[in-house]
Amino acid sequence: MQALTNKAQAVNRKPMTLLERLYLINIIKGMLITFSHMFKKQPTIRYPEQKREFSPVFRGLHVLNRDEEGRERCTACGLCAVACPAEAITMEAAERVEGEEQLYREEKYAAKYEINMLRCIFCGLCEDACPKDAIYLSETFAPANYTRKGFIYGKSDLLIPNPLTEASAFAEAKGVEA
Ligand code: SF4
Ligand code: SF4
Repeated sequence: MQALTNKAQAVNRKPMTLLERLYLINIIKGMLITFSHMFKKQPTIRYPEQKREFSPVFRGLHVLNRDEEGRERCTACGLCAVACPAEAITMEAAERVEGEEQLYREEKYAAKYEINMLRCIFCGLCEDACPKDAIYLSETFAPANYTRKGFIYGKSDLLIPNPLTEASAFAEAKGVEA
């Protein structure tokens, strides 16, 4: 039969010698390869004891930002949700009432704000779309969890600590020295 390509190779069906049947040479070869790796630099790190340094452009877990007076910046305009290609963001808006001026910067705020981290692809488009500098992607990542529900991050998980009442936690979240 005519071959379609010249890739076919004849199989060597010669019976194996006693030495070949013992596989000794191949076992020694394999062990030498394993042994040689013991003296090479380890490419793996012992996470979580050791942590890899992230690139300056790394996009990690989202943070809902506050202004310098500790007020929530988000005005629940929904632009981040519209920009999100993964439809990972949902929110509910509420009107600020009298006496809440020190809590919310704008007249409208997000009473509920959720991001589904299982859907998120960490593209950063929500951060780009936000006109209020209210959301940014930090240098941390979502830790592992046993349930899918644990990956739905609510406002309490996302909101940055108040710089007035929790200055060191705020500085830590921002990644700067207190
Ligand atoms: S980082 Fe991208 S995928 Fe994730 S919530 Fe923001 S816009 Fe959506
Ligand atoms: S995070 Fe920004 S874009 Fe998203 S709802 Fe709040 S203010 Fe609008």
